[in-house]
Amino acid sequence: MQCDVITIFPGIFHEYLSLKIFERALQKGILRIGVHNLRDYTTDRHRTVDDAPYGGGPGMVFKPEPFSRAVASVKADGLETCAIMVSPQGEKFNQRTAQTLAEEKRRLLFLCGRYEGVDERVREALVDREISVGDYVLTGGELPALVIIDAIVRLIPGALGDEHSTEEESFSWGILDYPHYTRPPEWEGRKVPEVLLSGNHGEIARWRRKEALRRTLHRRPELIDTASLIEEDHTLLLEIKEEQSDESDRRS
Ligand code: SAM
Repeated sequence: MQCDVITIFPGIFHEYLSLKIFERALQKGILRIGVHNLRDYTTDRHRTVDDAPYGGGPGMVFKPEPFSRAVASVKADGLETCAIMVSPQGEKFNQRTAQTLAEEKRRLLFLCGRYEGVDERVREALVDREISVGDYVLTGGELPALVIIDAIVRLIPGALGDEHSTEEESFSWGILDYPHYTRPPEWEGRKVPEVLLSGNHGEIARWRRKEALRRTLHRRPELIDTASLIEEDHTLLLEIKEEQSDESDRRS
């Protein structure tokens, strides 16, 4: 996978992308990342990337020309490219989007805004997709681009140390992950559930699936409606609901 980023803060990417997971993927050749400084595509002495908004108002707006030159320079190698503008106004990012982007054959080129945002004509002329990482406003597009790249890279086969790590995570089954425990078996009076110490892999798998369903039912019940559940899940859900009503009977 080839990812490129256009930003005025390349250092943010160099720091984060030096983490083991990215290094491993880069060394294996399953990932290539290019970080491009928008200021390198300016033509004036001050390397100006922004200007005041037409019509007045607060803040500054990224000018179209540096983005246009930067995008043209990245695309000059002829690779098919999907240009993604990170923006709070884009389609909301989730695990399914991460999965489709991880399978994308085209280069992913991220355009990071700052200040009040980017001249609208950049979106019209240069952008294929606009993606938001959530309904809140961040100072710049660097963290959103890193969030998206991080979520994608861990889905590329071979990027993670343990190939199975992503299979049972939150959202990959359409539901939340089950609770995890490690040593010691008892900490401050809190014991690890006995089944996890039993060595019985069938029972452990059943317990994990049930706890994942229980968690999802309590925290994100709407996910249950769209998750791809197997027959045993319905039995587990019934058990959970019975346990819940026994519990409320005991309390009343
Ligand atoms: N004026 C813009 C608005 O209200 O939609 C917000 C601009 S924001 C301060 C500056 C830049 O941060 C945006 O151009 C975008 O690149 C990035 N950004 C901020 N929040 C984001 C989010 N939730 N998802 C993706 N990018 C975001």
